[in-house]
Amino acid sequence: MPTYGRLPVSFTKGEGAWLWDESGNRYLDALSGIAVCGLGHSHPAVTEAICDQAATLLHTSNLYGIPNQQKLADKLCEISGMDNLFFANSGAEANEAAIKMARLYGHQQKVDNPAIIVAKGSFHGRTLATLSATGNRKVQAGFEPLVKGFVRAPYNNLEALREIASRSREVVAVMVEPIQGEGGIQVPEREYLSAIRQLCDEQNWLMILDEIQTGMGRTGHWFGFQHSDILPDIITLAKGLGNGLPIGACIAQGKAASLFQGGMHGSTFGGNPLVTRAAMAVIDTIEQQNLSERAALLGNRIRQGLSERLSPLKTVKEIRGLGLMIGIELSQPCTALVKQALEQRLLINVTAERVVRLLPPLILSDQEAEQIVDQLSGLIEQWSQSLMEEKP
Ligand SMILES: *Cc1c(COP(=O)(O)O)cnc(C)c1O
Repeated sequence: MPTYGRLPVSFTKGEGAWLWDESGNRYLDALSGIAVCGLGHSHPAVTEAICDQAATLLHTSNLYGIPNQQKLADKLCEISGMDNLFFANSGAEANEAAIKMARLYGHQQKVDNPAIIVAKGSFHGRTLATLSATGNRKVQAGFEPLVKGFVRAPYNNLEALREIASRSREVVAVMVEPIQGEGGIQVPEREYLSAIRQLCDEQNWLMILDEIQTGMGRTGHWFGFQHSDILPDIITLAKGLGNGLPIGACIAQGKAASLFQGGMHGSTFGGNPLVTRAAMAVIDTIEQQNLSERAALLGNRIRQGLSERLSPLKTVKEIRGLGLMIGIELSQPCTALVKQALEQRLLINVTAERVVRLLPPLILSDQEAEQIVDQLSGLIEQWSQSLMEEKP
């Protein structure tokens, strides 16, 4: 079905931060399959885990114990400080679990129609509940009736949350991204998450963080929330967790950890021996090689390099981000840059129409980081130049 507007290129091989097309041309990947391949392509630790597990046992179902799954669950709880989790197969599914948990929590509090506060500009997935939670009309249009039980508030605005708290008896949770990814790499104020935590405590709401894009070391810590001194009630993960194998997780702590009881949720594939073995290899590698620290360092360097080259340009509004989640906001819609970069064999993305988004792999070398800065700066300089010529 024609759901994707695809670029005119197909890749057949990958290694590290590089992809090769059918004619053998090499491309530098500054997108990592949308924040999925944090360890780059064909990482030997992940390859070995997959091959070994594939030759041992792929799937048994959640009717039985799955030692790899238990091991990964313990590790995820250890690095997040959370208590327990449910394994899904994607980000949207992990969020579905979180939304169901929030509703269970609401009914426990005797709220008949529990609602979750979600943000403008957010992205939570494409299933009916998660597209309803998403703050982007393009994602929702045509799929009405939307799922009820979401209240919309501007992102990075605590006053708006307080105002909703003062007039609504139905709200039971807040669900936001620590940094909005699809929304254009929107980085909230430093105190935003801790202020939400405080408000949730005051109001007895669950704090749910969608860490699907921010998680797994990308922002410089394992999780985005770890830049503040708080613990959410629920976080959701997917993307970078499996480095390309489909796996998601909904992780809970405290009162949120005992919401789901026997038979309330399930998944045939969720947390199977193969994907959990691969995800374990991902975590071990990030840990052993200190890749979240590396992401912080590289991110600073890339943002600084881009600033030096691009800040003189009037067409460049802002260069922002945290770790290897980087956005360059331009003054005009700039989707054309994606194709121009592709022609120069650099893979980038544009989101929210005018934000160039970089999500390079955490294993990037210094030289590769420099190349991204160099090539992208050149492209944006050219793009700005052509804009000036159009409208003098
Ligand atoms: C990608 C993404 C999702 C959806 O994940 P899928 O695996 O595509 O279902 C949800 N939330 C955020 C923040 C994302 O970046």
